[in-house]
Amino acid sequence: MTTKTTRTAQLGLFPVGRVEVPVLPAINATTVVFPDTTSLTPLDRDSLSRQGRDPYENFYYGGVGTPTTEAFGQAVAKLEGGTHAVLAPSGQSALVATLSALLKQGDHVLVVDTVTYTTRWYLDQCLAASGVTVTYYPPEVTDLEPFLRPNTRVVFMESPGSMTFEVQDVPALCKTAARHGITTVLDNTWAASRYFEPFEKGADVSVLSLTKYHAGPAGVSMGAVVTRQERLHATIKNQAALLGLHVNPDACARAMLALATLDLRLNQQERTTEHVLRSLTGLSGLGALFHPSLPGAPGHALWRRDFMGANSLVTLVFEGLDRAAVHARVDRFRVVRIGYGWGGMLSLATLFEVNAWRTVSGIAARGMGLRLYLGLEDPADLVADLRQALEGR
Ligand SMILES: *Cc1c(COP(=O)(O)O)cnc(C)c1O
Repeated sequence: MTTKTTRTAQLGLFPVGRVEVPVLPAINATTVVFPDTTSLTPLDRDSLSRQGRDPYENFYYGGVGTPTTEAFGQAVAKLEGGTHAVLAPSGQSALVATLSALLKQGDHVLVVDTVTYTTRWYLDQCLAASGVTVTYYPPEVTDLEPFLRPNTRVVFMESPGSMTFEVQDVPALCKTAARHGITTVLDNTWAASRYFEPFEKGADVSVLSLTKYHAGPAGVSMGAVVTRQERLHATIKNQAALLGLHVNPDACARAMLALATLDLRLNQQERTTEHVLRSLTGLSGLGALFHPSLPGAPGHALWRRDFMGANSLVTLVFEGLDRAAVHARVDRFRVVRIGYGWGGMLSLATLFEVNAWRTVSGIAARGMGLRLYLGLEDPADLVADLRQALEGR
């Protein structure tokens, strides 16, 4: 058995007749041409299910799948430890397909308070408006029982949470949910298909924004919904098709090139993160520092128990500095650039209001937060830049 790094490097291998090519070809087609009328895949679902056939098992219309999208989806499913993947044009659309497939009017969903704000916007502005009751729970909750209702259908987790990286007790939450027949969905983007095994830990569905570490260096926006359960996969795949969430084969081919270097990049970025954390811990005049690997980080013991490493997102909270003072420091960055998103080559800084968006939990620190994404630059250059900007030297 080879290591994950080796398997990842060889993900792009694609069969062409009796040989293989190492780079996934982009087979761009919206139409598939059949040899005769009896080979046409019938499109109505009733006749398909009477024949016991999966409506998507064959390539019949480019929008819902080509050999390129199929191969890329399989690669993502394998990396994530699942068996099936539904691809979507973004992490957000993958989340929308999943939640709208699993929740109907009159249902109840439990959502961790530390979800990414775009997920919260969808839940509050769209799903709640369609008659689904949304309840947020604090990230430190381990006993779900008091939050459950007879109509609870889905428990949604994002661990570590957005911006301040609270680690949840995913195994405990999934165990309780399973006992009640409730589906568990985990936004596992942070773990980059490397640091957390969602299905071993009990989750039913893992949702990924591939826009981050997976495909970020290619500048590709994409998402995936991975599972080991055939029925859940079929339900979500059907919903993605109904919503028209077609993915482009060119984008998949480009994303695969980035995916093949995922492990290599993460190896380097782990070293960079350790380096930067060591030097930031020693800096004077800084407030709280957030990274799950730091003793004292929220959920650090759970991270040690359940995770195989940590990514290169780090958050600093400047307690006692006003907005103007924080802006002045961040504007001194020369190597780290200012921008939203993460997962690509560039180290990026974004500012946020600590405890904004949350409704049922919070962190003790007050003030402005600086989220750093550490990219592929030389760690020594990054440390020097952070020092000169944050300490004013
Ligand atoms: C970025 C992100 C999303 C949204 O993904 P897009 O591909 O940008 O739509 C969802 N969840 C998490 C945790 C993310 O970081």
